[in-house]
Amino acid sequence: MSDELKDLYQEVVLDHGKRPRNFGELPDANRTADGYNPLCGDQIKLFVKLEGELIRDVRFTGQGCAISKASASMMTAAVKEHTRAEALALFDRVHALVTLGPTSGVELESVGKLAALSGVWEFPARVKCASLAWHTLKSALEGKAEKVSTE
Ligand code: ZN
Repeated sequence: MSDELKDLYQEVVLDHGKRPRNFGELPDANRTADGYNPLCGDQIKLFVKLEGELIRDVRFTGQGCAISKASASMMTAAVKEHTRAEALALFDRVHALVTLGPTSGVELESVGKLAALSGVWEFPARVKCASLAWHTLKSALEGKAEKVSTE
């Protein structure tokens, strides 16, 4: 990991892990999804308020390791007030970054502070922690009922 990315990783991931944004239930959500990462025990419940194609609000509950919480926190902050299509496009970029790292071809600048998540690529055991919230988001946006598992 470059020093720059390492600094960003520590700053952003530790900050969001300690003080998650958009944490809590969303009573008027019209989309929800549950995600589970059995490898680490991370659990997330995601609440989305979709107005037409716009993600008006998004919140999450659950428990897990610092990376899973930080990733969920960063994900909610990144997709709130964006369209479903934008959120799904972001899913594709982040997923490629955390699973493929530098070979993904994704420009780090194109994902803003989410670039910090690409640091987990060097820690294979952590990839599912970082991607859980994103898989759960995709499931919620696609209206799938079954529980998401990273396995
Ligand atoms: Zn985890």
